[in-house]
Amino acid sequence: MKILKLIVTLIAIFAGVEVIAAPLPCKAFNGQPVPYYANPNLSNVGVAHMTRNGQRIIQINPNVVGPLPEYVRQFWYAHECAHHALHPAQNSEVAADCYAIKNLRNIGVIRFRNQVSGLLNYISTLPGSVQTGHLPGPARANNLYACFSAP
Ligand SMILES: [Zn+2]
Repeated sequence: MKILKLIVTLIAIFAGVEVIAAPLPCKAFNGQPVPYYANPNLSNVGVAHMTRNGQRIIQINPNVVGPLPEYVRQFWYAHECAHHALHPAQNSEVAADCYAIKNLRNIGVIRFRNQVSGLLNYISTLPGSVQTGHLPGPARANNLYACFSAP
């Protein structure tokens, strides 16, 4: 079965089909593992929240992340994970962006210049929101670049 899976993966790679990687494991600031769920009914890309029984979860909209390049998809997973991984006192949209891009840089998911510019160009097109705390796209991209460039 392993061989079959390898052959299918190789065919997909040679056919130019992007193999969708699973999100990186997410752990909350208190050590609790955080599962990801697909929810095509979300009005945006994803959401990090807590269920009534205290389980931290992430929901991701597969219709939004599906068409994106792998490193951008991983950015959204990491961004939603950051909302749980950051201590509540430090949790904000700006901090979650920073946490996500640094994390992906440190593990090598984002390492090429074209990946950085691809992500920043994409983020630049997003509208900001006072309600959610998202900076307008260009300011958000500037913040991301500053975080990527910082140690
Ligand atoms: Zn967020």
